[in-house]
Amino acid sequence: KEPLSLDQLMAVDPLLTEEERMIRDTVRRFVRERYLPRAAELFAKEEFPVDLIPEIAEMGLLGASLTGYGCAGMNAVSYGLAIAELEYGDSGLRSFASVQGSLAMYPIWRFGSEEQKQRWLPKMAAGEFIGCFGLTEPDSGSDPGSMTTRARRDGDDYVLTGTKMWITSSPIAHLAVVWAKVDDGGPESIRGFVVERGMKGFETPTVHGKMSLRASPTGEIVLNEVRVPAENVLPGVTGLKGPLSCLTQARFGISWGALGAARACYEAAVSYTRERVQFGKPVASKQLVQEQLVEMASEIAKGQIMALHYGRLKDAGALTPVQVSLCKRNNVGWALRIARMARGLLGGNGILLDYPVIRHMLNLESVYTYEGTHEVHTLILGDALTGYNAF
Ligand code: FAD
Repeated sequence: KEPLSLDQLMAVDPLLTEEERMIRDTVRRFVRERYLPRAAELFAKEEFPVDLIPEIAEMGLLGASLTGYGCAGMNAVSYGLAIAELEYGDSGLRSFASVQGSLAMYPIWRFGSEEQKQRWLPKMAAGEFIGCFGLTEPDSGSDPGSMTTRARRDGDDYVLTGTKMWITSSPIAHLAVVWAKVDDGGPESIRGFVVERGMKGFETPTVHGKMSLRASPTGEIVLNEVRVPAENVLPGVTGLKGPLSCLTQARFGISWGALGAARACYEAAVSYTRERVQFGKPVASKQLVQEQLVEMASEIAKGQIMALHYGRLKDAGALTPVQVSLCKRNNVGWALRIARMARGLLGGNGILLDYPVIRHMLNLESVYTYEGTHEVHTLILGDALTGYNAF
């Protein structure tokens, strides 16, 4: 008989508005028609499909949940649904939208001057300007307060020196929101600078040879005495709460996105095991296989319900960073385990790019590490739940 789909099992449709369903279905169609036919090749060739940026912008997915300045002003649930569809395609595709909206546009929208917003946001929403977010450094990852990138005040300018590492989209970016400590101050002196392509001393060498997120361009940001005018400093924030508040936005999206990758793996596993015959019967008829499929479906359904609940809470203005950590940690952790289970269920074929599973599995290794590693979210939750900081 026909298997029950995940959508039927989870039955979230009645909980969504017509607009939310429409946004999801539009992005779903785009991913299936425009991205999936190329997904394996883009991954294999380490290519990001820049030609799709205008269509992604057209759907309102760049700065989707921001208001004004050409942004779509979607609610959090619509945004989550859309981002999950992008990640059903590939975590690299979703990373592009996350970084553009939550990490590059959001700090300008939230902490920028009116002039800065007018100058950059409409072009970024239209996909004409690509942004990136420079926080991580070669020697400063989970502990961003230890960053060594410096901004020295010099008259009306700041002079930036340092290296940022693992920066999504930096090789294709027109501008970078770079976080740096001012005048050798401590973490409280951290400010956000909009560094523009073409400024002398600004380079973005590509990181080659990644075995994960291969369809997402990752690079460094090298700042060699880059002179940035004071008008490019984000006036509205100082200290680590600047970058951390951006990360909270991005992590919320990722907790939805990972469910998209998990769903793609689950669906591939169901369809493969229903067809694959061993010992005279489809392997899907075996109890050990069913047990794994049931576990995968249960965890996706639980993760979806949590994401939807927290999405509604975000729209009500009541979602906290600790709740975002719970959702990111749970949903990404499970997505990776689900991808590995699906990989096993496809047997030898599971390692081929002909199926989406190994690509998602490898991608999710990055998603597990970025935006706060799995362990960092465990420590955030541990601190909140016990009152003892274990960092
Ligand atoms: P480390 O912080 O060195 O961690 C190494 C290990 O130690 C991890 O397992 C970690 O969980 C563990 N650990 C660290 N501290 C503790 C502790 N106190 N207790 C227990 N365990 C601990 N950064 C950006 O700024 N912008 C981007 O656009 C961006 N994109 C990325 C794209 C990709 C593909 C990747 C892989 C990374 C990206 N990052 C980006 C960087 C990412 O955020 C960092 O990799 C992440 O924060 C972890 O830092 P790290 O790699 O230096 O690992």
